[in-house]
Amino acid sequence: AAMVKETIRVYARVKPLGRRQQAGIYSVDDNENSLSSLEIIVPRDLADGFVNNKRESYKFKFQKIFDQEAKQDVVFDSIAKPVAECVLAGYNGTIFAYGQTGSGKTFTITGGAERYSDRGIIPRTLSYIFDQLQKDSSKVYTTHVSYLEIYNECGYDLLDPRHEASRLEDLPKVTIMEDTDQNIHLKNLSLQQATNEEEALNLLFLGDTNRMIAETPVNQASTRSHCIFTIHISSKEPGSATIRRSKLHLVDLAGSERVAKTGVGGHLLTEAKYINLSLHYLEQVIIALAEKNRSHIPYRNSMMTSVLRDSLGGNCMTTMIATLSIDKRNIDECISTCRFAQRVALIKNEAVLNEEIDPRLMIIQLKKEIQELKDELELVTGKQRTSELSQEELLQLDELIEAFLEDDDPDSTLDVGADIRKIKYCFVHVKQLMNNSKISDKKLLSQHISEEDDTNREAGEEELKKLKELLQQRDNEINILVNMLKKEKKKAQDALFQLNAASAGSTVLEQSLSVNLEESQSPSSCFNLKEAKHFRSSFHRLPFLSRQTGGKMSLGCQEAFEVFKRDHADSITIEDNKQLLKQRFTEAKCLGEKLNEVRNKINHLKGEITQRHIQRAARAVSSPSEEVNTLDPVEEKLRTQIEEEKKSYEMMFNRLKGLKVEIEHLQLLTEKVKMKLQKDFQVWWSEEAINLQQEKPEMVSSPNTVTVYPQFIKSSQHLSTNSFSETTRVSPNEDAAGKNNSITSSNPTLKTRAPPNSSTSIPLTGDSQADADILAFIKARQNILQKKGKSCQ
Ligand code: ADP
Ligand code: MG
Repeated sequence: AAMVKETIRVYARVKPLGRRQQAGIYSVDDNENSLSSLEIIVPRDLADGFVNNKRESYKFKFQKIFDQEAKQDVVFDSIAKPVAECVLAGYNGTIFAYGQTGSGKTFTITGGAERYSDRGIIPRTLSYIFDQLQKDSSKVYTTHVSYLEIYNECGYDLLDPRHEASRLEDLPKVTIMEDTDQNIHLKNLSLQQATNEEEALNLLFLGDTNRMIAETPVNQASTRSHCIFTIHISSKEPGSATIRRSKLHLVDLAGSERVAKTGVGGHLLTEAKYINLSLHYLEQVIIALAEKNRSHIPYRNSMMTSVLRDSLGGNCMTTMIATLSIDKRNIDECISTCRFAQRVALIKNEAVLNEEIDPRLMIIQLKKEIQELKDELELVTGKQRTSELSQEELLQLDELIEAFLEDDDPDSTLDVGADIRKIKYCFVHVKQLMNNSKISDKKLLSQHISEEDDTNREAGEEELKKLKELLQQRDNEINILVNMLKKEKKKAQDALFQLNAASAGSTVLEQSLSVNLEESQSPSSCFNLKEAKHFRSSFHRLPFLSRQTGGKMSLGCQEAFEVFKRDHADSITIEDNKQLLKQRFTEAKCLGEKLNEVRNKINHLKGEITQRHIQRAARAVSSPSEEVNTLDPVEEKLRTQIEEEKKSYEMMFNRLKGLKVEIEHLQLLTEKVKMKLQKDFQVWWSEEAINLQQEKPEMVSSPNTVTVYPQFIKSSQHLSTNSFSETTRVSPNEDAAGKNNSITSSNPTLKTRAPPNSSTSIPLTGDSQADADILAFIKARQNILQKKGKSCQ
């Protein structure tokens, strides 16, 4: 876009003196071709009665100086007209008047109230702009105006037609919004469309009236507020998608007068402060802009500098008019104003043409262009081009692709020319081929979830996986428990048998073990020996056992628990539940497998349909006479098959869901009974412990002999002096436990003492597992006794 780099143009206008005013000494050196200069002389005798030896002559350069006689039309022609022209061309423009109150800012910007010839820049500019718009029929223009008053850092909309303001506060409040690109937006400032000069002037009148009415002696709005009248123009050539938007700010600033007016002279002038704070910030912005290498410009300090940000060192062609009231008493203010103007004259602006593209118009334009290109292409190729490839072309491509895929030469290429439609087709075709090979690969298939699979199916698969895991877990647990119970039953039988046969304990253990092994391998059980061992080791992880004992229930205690359990009525319920659970799990497992099968079947059928589609497409290309849209009976059959499979899948899935609920329920029940059993056992266990303590038993006397208390062994009342059964397996003390594997007494003896001091000397069996259990049992008992002893102290 075009860009104009320019410093702010600065003009001066001297207001005619009033009748009683005494003129200050100044001279204007007007130069037609270059800058004009204004010299102001400060009389030596004027400095508060004492002689001021400081500089008495001040010289300032301006673009042009309008002396007292200058008329409004001349001012407009040389200052405003060039800016208005730029705005019409699509650049932003700003004209602002700066000067003390009464120096003629309002007169210059808006105009005098009495004579038509006193019209100021705003009405003259409006008139000029609408004149130009009317003359220019090459473009379509839209014009809006807005009128903003800023008083005390508050913005007010002077053009809101709904409000008949009697106070400034009654007007709509305007606030500043900054977007992500740091562009300033004025919220609540109405943009009024003006289609001709009359409408625009009416709006100006409305705003000025509002401004006048809202002014009170207290707020002195005309002195202390800034007024910004903005003309917004947008233009576009007919048929073009490019829109130009530009703004022209016409600004009447607050009075620039400063405090500390007591003296006249250089030092006082520099120390004087603005009455209006936002003008102070304006000066700071101007100073910052005039400095080289200043990166931060404090625009945000005041609303006025924020609104005029573009006008000051930005995308705008800006002009300043310094208004001077040059009577003797105001010489210092004149000098201040001129100094300010000199700084402003240093500011460089970069105005760019504000063009943007209307997307709707752009689309229309591009569509037209596409059609033209298509026509041209048809002319060149002699073929009509549509977005679809012909059947012939498709067949040709299929052959090319096939040849390419089958060619083993690594240098072979697939050349379909520069037709993007053909290139795209090749990719789609290869993708299809790849997907088909995936579908036919059953291994991949099981991992592959087709996009077409509905969410129900996906959820089903996940559910199935969870159930399978649960099944495995529960199977393990059930088997452990079943094994244990069986083992206990066997042990009881063996104990009875042993009483009669009086055989060695180790034999019993061997027998019991062999029975277990046989059972594990029997066809009725689906678990092999390896699994059985695994379940044995997972015994310690059983949640319901470890929960109560803190995970530290010794093997001996466990054994005792097993015995207790066997005699307990609840174990029947548990056993029943277990059987039922096992049944249900097997059922669920079978269902899960079947579900898997059906799913695979469905996927396979889908694959067949896809294959079918490809075949048909190929056939349609090779023999176009065949009706393409006829129904394929094979495909129909495949579809009905899929439907049926889906139905059975759904049925099975629902059954599986039902099973899951049942299983969970059964598990809870079992868990509950188990907990009760566990609690009962613990009560019994501690009762037994108390009994033992009351009898004050002797501790283990030697590693090879252990002490057994017959009354503890409820179910082994018939134990003879030298018999030993697993149910009474006890553990030796810690010393023995430390070397339990090396304990292989060749000559085991078993002594039984009568209570309270009677103890039974039990030989170690030589079987490492049994010995370990014995040691654990004894240790557990001792622990309990010790704990009880402590709690009694
Ligand atoms: P400001 O807006 O800077 O406070 P005004 O524009 O209100 O000052 O001017 C103060 C008075 O001087 C007004 O009555 C105005 O009509 C008059 N005045 C200002 N400039 C001129 C001018 N160039 N010719 C005739 N009268 C003027
Ligand atoms: Mg004014």
